[in-house]
Amino acid sequence: MKIGAIEAGGTKFVCAIGDETGAIYNKTTIDTRKPEETLEEVYDFFQGSGIDRIGVGSFGPVDVKPESATYGQIQQTPKIDWVGYPLLSELEHHLQVKGIIDTDVNVAALAENKLGAAQQSDNSMYITVGTGIGAGGVINGTTLTGLSHPEMGHITVRRHPDDHYAGSCPYHQDCLEGLASGPAIEARWGQEGRFLEARHEVWEMEAYYLAQAIATYIYILSPQTIVIGGGVMKQQRMYGLIRQEVLRQINGYVSSSKLDPHHVNDYIIPPALGDEAGVKGALLLACQL
Ligand SMILES: [Zn+2]
Repeated sequence: MKIGAIEAGGTKFVCAIGDETGAIYNKTTIDTRKPEETLEEVYDFFQGSGIDRIGVGSFGPVDVKPESATYGQIQQTPKIDWVGYPLLSELEHHLQVKGIIDTDVNVAALAENKLGAAQQSDNSMYITVGTGIGAGGVINGTTLTGLSHPEMGHITVRRHPDDHYAGSCPYHQDCLEGLASGPAIEARWGQEGRFLEARHEVWEMEAYYLAQAIATYIYILSPQTIVIGGGVMKQQRMYGLIRQEVLRQINGYVSSSKLDPHHVNDYIIPPALGDEAGVKGALLLACQL
């Protein structure tokens, strides 16, 4: 089966042709501009490729409910050109194939669960910490959706006692994303994270916030593996700091051998599929059609 896959991101669209095993035959990256301009290039890439279906992992918020009249439409987003854009139906119409859509983080969670770092787990999650903070989940083989899709980056966290930064989320100000995304780090400390490597307090505070979120996700979703990546996690020390802080915050309350100082190294882990998690997840999503 020849499948089209798109990871539709806020800065770039990754398009690929592959199959149900997750193998990719051909791939391209397109800068995200206005919807029509971006999709012209997407159509050119898939033209004549013979795909018989398409899977999309999109930036959000996006309507992921197949029974909804606005299924596949981008919803309220600071990217105003895209608000209300019927991404999935435009793709289906121009490429003359059936499609399926979920969030970029949900499909990345699916790919890491089926092909990557969380293969031994029925229930796992994928978190990305970069320009924004997003997380997706896989529960018994399918992505976590319901009322809408999860918005785990926007949970409320307890403020660090030394943090006087107001927060950057336009909706909630000091939610997790408002306090711990890449732009929040830059706004708080006056420099991008990559220039702050030597300042331990930066990463300690970051771990304090991310660990609170992860402890909350553990209490609610009970994931068997937590994959965490994104630009901020390029600071390799973050893994150690987060694991230590998660254990400190949970304080022995959750009984699992994975939550001990040794096994936690195999529990909160980096992605195995790197930059291809999104697009491979979109391939796997299309298999559900
Ligand atoms: Zn928020």
